[in-house]
Amino acid sequence: MEKEKVIVIGSGPAGFTAAMYAARARLEPLIISGNQLGGQISITYEVENYPGFPEGVAGPELVDLMQKQAERFGARLVVDEVTEATLTEGAPFRVKTFGQEYQAESLVIATGASPHRLGIPGEEALIGRGVSFCATCDGFFFREKDVIVVGGGDSAMEEGLFLTRFANRVRVIHRRDDLRAGETLKRRAMENDKMSFIWDTVLEEIIGNGKVEAVRTRNVKSSATEELKTDGVFIFIGHFPNTDLFTGQLEMDPMGYLVTDERAMTSVPGVFAAGEVQDPVYRQVATSVGQGAAAGMMVERWLVEQE
Ligand code: NAP
Repeated sequence: MEKEKVIVIGSGPAGFTAAMYAARARLEPLIISGNQLGGQISITYEVENYPGFPEGVAGPELVDLMQKQAERFGARLVVDEVTEATLTEGAPFRVKTFGQEYQAESLVIATGASPHRLGIPGEEALIGRGVSFCATCDGFFFREKDVIVVGGGDSAMEEGLFLTRFANRVRVIHRRDDLRAGETLKRRAMENDKMSFIWDTVLEEIIGNGKVEAVRTRNVKSSATEELKTDGVFIFIGHFPNTDLFTGQLEMDPMGYLVTDERAMTSVPGVFAAGEVQDPVYRQVATSVGQGAAAGMMVERWLVEQE
């Protein structure tokens, strides 16, 4: 069994930053990537609000730079996924992946969040066949096509605007008659000729034989249902924290986010958390980086205290 001082679980901005700080403290942290190297940002076309990049930066490029910077100071990355973590017996913590079993004196959990699904008929079966949770990944396949975007937040607007580069028409279906998105994105979306809005409406079914062909909608005020033909359905209705591995072991809030104290520590001493897995509020690259830095610093302090 491999023995480590610090294992960072997750390879998004929070994970790489925590690892960089731990590496600079000569702790040689091991980063276990998770199933998506780079996390959500690796499938983000452009990040416009991360300081230091006045012209914006492509998500994959930013995460690649973060990885290089952490590795430069001695962080090591393994591309693997944690399948089991035993935390309640205290340090050393046991971490199993598909390929290996480790012991760690301390942990930083930076497993991020995943997109919510609608949970309606047709959704699961048609993922990758017209149903998508990532415009950056799949937008290209919808050139000259007609797509539907579900959701009224910043993600729905940002991804919807991105889709207008490819699709002929982007119809946003939102369950209320007012967008949750911030003013700038809201205005850009409203002013875009290719975008239109269907208010007070929810999806009841995604219809298609082998690929998306239509959706069945219901107006929440009138209860009227309608079938709309479309080639694609892009769903952006928020995220949930990736905390399944820690259920029953770490304190969580009612939505499943890890609870941390002012030292970025979870309810188990020596187990720290950073980024969206413990942040239901800000969810920005800039804030995740800050939380990662805090966790990286605190893990070092905690290890010194244990000596
Ligand atoms: P969000 O702000 O939670 O918005 C989710 C949207 O989906 C809401 O409009 C919500 O409707 C709708 N929704 C939720 N559950 C639904 C369901 N079951 N059926 C239909 N609609 C449903 O999530 P987000 O857009 O992913 O943004 C998350 C965070 O990241 C926010 O803090 C956001 O500001 C940030 N973000 C920022 C940027 C940027 O600054 N460029 C870009 C992307 C995200 P209601 O409005 O009725 O609740």
